[in-house]
Amino acid sequence: EYDRALIDSEGPLLEETQATQSVGVLAVVGRPNVGKSTLVNRILGRRAAVVEDKPGVTRDRVSYDAQWAGTDFKIVDTGGWEADAQGIGSAIADQAQLAVSLADAVCFVVDGQVGLTDMDTRLVRMLRQAGKPVVLAVNKLDSRNADYTAAEFWKLGMGEPYPISAMHGRGVGDLLDAAVDQLHKAEKTSGFLTPAGLRRVALVGRPNVGKSSLLNKLAKQDRAVVNDVAGTTRDPVDEVIDIEGEDWLFIDTAGIKRRLHKLSGAEYYSSLRTQAAIERSELALVLFDASQPIADQDLKVMSQAVDAGRAVVLIFNKWDLLDDFGRQRLERLWQTEFDRVTWAERVNLSAKTGWHTNRLAQAMHTALESWDQRVPTGKLNSFLGTVQAAHPHPLRGGKQPRILFATQASTRPPRFVIFATGFLEASYRRFLERRLREEFGFQGTPIQISVHIRE
Ligand code: GDP
Ligand code: GDP
Repeated sequence: EYDRALIDSEGPLLEETQATQSVGVLAVVGRPNVGKSTLVNRILGRRAAVVEDKPGVTRDRVSYDAQWAGTDFKIVDTGGWEADAQGIGSAIADQAQLAVSLADAVCFVVDGQVGLTDMDTRLVRMLRQAGKPVVLAVNKLDSRNADYTAAEFWKLGMGEPYPISAMHGRGVGDLLDAAVDQLHKAEKTSGFLTPAGLRRVALVGRPNVGKSSLLNKLAKQDRAVVNDVAGTTRDPVDEVIDIEGEDWLFIDTAGIKRRLHKLSGAEYYSSLRTQAAIERSELALVLFDASQPIADQDLKVMSQAVDAGRAVVLIFNKWDLLDDFGRQRLERLWQTEFDRVTWAERVNLSAKTGWHTNRLAQAMHTALESWDQRVPTGKLNSFLGTVQAAHPHPLRGGKQPRILFATQASTRPPRFVIFATGFLEASYRRFLERRLREEFGFQGTPIQISVHIRE
């Protein structure tokens, strides 16, 4: 019955989405009574649509036009789809799941007054499986004094908890900023824009390092055909390329082949294209010309990829041109210019001869697995406990900052949030990053650590 309600609503939902070109669909999900409908009303800014007092009554509309900060999006409220007493939990989870599968991003609402319940936990599991970006709202925190309660919800592993009061509107702006942000990101990266399941690769580097040579080599050597996937992607310049029997989506290959660097103003445009390709990618292959000195522009491209939080493989191309002396020079460079990215995957190859191009696939997989990796909160905390006991933070003004709790707030790239009693010095953060990498790997991905100070 509930499924039918959803299926009935599926048609108009999708039609409307296309008609208005909104940036995406945000599903508001949570167990009954956490305040989903109140929140949706607050977002829509009118009491109209959603209020329905009788539980179990299906509404004929499930999606509403919403707007925030100049962005149009659809909002789907699951608040009306409540089962009655028996089987309530699973029915709601099923409905929420359907709503989530139709959405581009999810606003997950919990009740900050009641705290976590089993049903919340079950929904979290479902959300994690769905893999959609989530913004976490901790509702019913009607006064600023109650905001500290929100921190408890970090442990859900759903990212930063936003304290809100749907009833009074407190905090809803910040929540919407985050939600719209996620929708924009989902728009760039969502699965339906690219052939299902393909991982998106940006091949970047300054002009003449050998990007188009490598692209041609990969395309020829492995299949002799380069698929043009125009029509299946928003941007018809992408190509599916088979590497070692596996398809990858290479972003903006047209830009690579266009040999822009022969034109004036080329550097500016190629840098714009590079940034755009990185934004749309999951993995950046950063090419260097190993036969030349490393230029500022090389390092700039690399930083763009790292700062954007992408999985990274560094490729030293034109290896065929190096003699012993050249190889030694490069190893010295690796120690100095690249000390910031010693965690990156690295492949030396020759696009011209094809030497070692068969090592790429493995490096790409390693980097992406690390990028996707999640450390369970329990494991993380017991590890940090041990590290801290052996190497406490140095005293600062007679006090010792201590780590209270940590959680991995997100993957892609891995981001850790640490709660501490005081400021953690940069050197200590780097030390923690090093230890995290030693313990958990993360080869090929940047990791981010932010510290929240709690008295
Ligand atoms: P839903 O069914 O989960 O969407 O939740 P509702 O929107 O129907 O709200 C459930 C109950 O919580 C109602 O009595 C609301 O008035 C109340 N409620 C919703 N938001 C807030 C809030 O921010 N603060 C307080 N104190 N109560 C709220
Ligand atoms: P892009 O501007 O990054 O796309 O670079 P290209 O692929 O156009 O390569 C620039 C120049 O470097 C061309 O003359 C290529 O033939 C040459 N080149 C590329 N890869 C290699 C390589 O592995 N070895 C050698 N010797 N030359 C290469």
